[in-house]
Amino acid sequence: MLSRSLKRSLIPAIMVIVAVFLVLSTRPRLYSFQGQIMGTTYNVSYVATLFHPVRDVSRGIQDALADVDQRMSTYKPDSELMQFNRAPVGEPFKLSGDIVQLVQQARAISDLSDGAYDITVGPLVNLWGFGPTQRAADKEGHDDSESLANVPEFAKWIESQYPGHIPHATAIQEALANVGYQSLTVDTEGSTLTREKALFVDLSSIAKGYGVDQAAAALRARGIKDFMVEVGGEVLVQGVKPNGNPWRLAVIGPEMGKNGVSALVEPLDKALATSGDYLNFFEVDGKRYSHTINPVTGWPEAKRVAEVAVIADTSARADALATMFMVLGDEKGLELANRLGIAARFAYYTDEGFATVTSEAFKPYLVKQP
Ligand code: FAD
Repeated sequence: MLSRSLKRSLIPAIMVIVAVFLVLSTRPRLYSFQGQIMGTTYNVSYVATLFHPVRDVSRGIQDALADVDQRMSTYKPDSELMQFNRAPVGEPFKLSGDIVQLVQQARAISDLSDGAYDITVGPLVNLWGFGPTQRAADKEGHDDSESLANVPEFAKWIESQYPGHIPHATAIQEALANVGYQSLTVDTEGSTLTREKALFVDLSSIAKGYGVDQAAAALRARGIKDFMVEVGGEVLVQGVKPNGNPWRLAVIGPEMGKNGVSALVEPLDKALATSGDYLNFFEVDGKRYSHTINPVTGWPEAKRVAEVAVIADTSARADALATMFMVLGDEKGLELANRLGIAARFAYYTDEGFATVTSEAFKPYLVKQP
């Protein structure tokens, strides 16, 4: 039994311990975790106090990303999108509301760019080897037929084309005949899409960004309001870091090699997406063919632009706009970005190396370099 005097002397110590405990448990801390999804990696950092369900948060993010992957992937033959890509031509096909909404959003960007951005570019993406077969074979250009064995059935027909071969002109014309977003009928009321010809819809340019938006929604649903979510280079930030400073992001530019920082930005509750021609390409006779395809010519776009960074309200929109600008190029792209108030930064090849141009709307986000 503790004596009264001993109890009295313990009270201050207990009060100090309780006070320290309260300070620690209420002080904001940074939590981070990573994972694999959509053929790439994801990173999440968020601010919370000492006691909160970290495991539940990381599972919630993984589930949100896996849901997008499972439904919108062209790399999963049984995904909702791939079932649609095999549906009978001319018949409305019922899909989840968010896929129909995403296709509607993509069509608006196609209209904006006179078709330079077009999610029905799939037959060309696959023909040029940037679709599901790309990962199945050695990117060094040596055909590795075993690993091609697990390529989804629909992609088999281009086995001979891959990797790193320039398709025959006739194959390009045949693929082009099945490209054109105008032949994709969207019914948002009935939540259906209809292929008016043998289209192959490829959401790779927008659905990764959509995954980031869904992961951000999962964090907000758990009351977390200060976070950074990144999936394969598409990033969305909200709120501030534990020290109260805004999230600061590096734009990794080609001009600095594969890992050099070419600009620092603070997107302030917005999303940053980048698209480039220097990470996903093959070379034939010294000429580079990247995974950004011009839906009009049927060839990989080869303008001088090397990378575009876009800041927008959602990651899906930033993701799609960055791809769009890769096809438009820096001159036409900058004019459009300034006319519409889109925050875009273009890095392009010059005889001396690289140069960059930035739209007016992008400038406020740039962190002044020391
Ligand atoms: P972005 O510029 O964002 O997109 C380029 C992609 O858009 C091209 O690869 C092409 O598919 C498409 N595209 C090309 N030209 C145009 C155009 N003019 N208009 C519209 N679209 C165009 N990769 C794997 O290796 N394994 C996987 O399991 C895998 N699963 C995925 C699941 C999902 C849901 C998504 C969205 C992608 C997946 N990927 C997978 C693809 C991989 O993540 C892509 O390389 C990536 O999405 C392309 O993003 P990016 O930022 O590199 O280029």
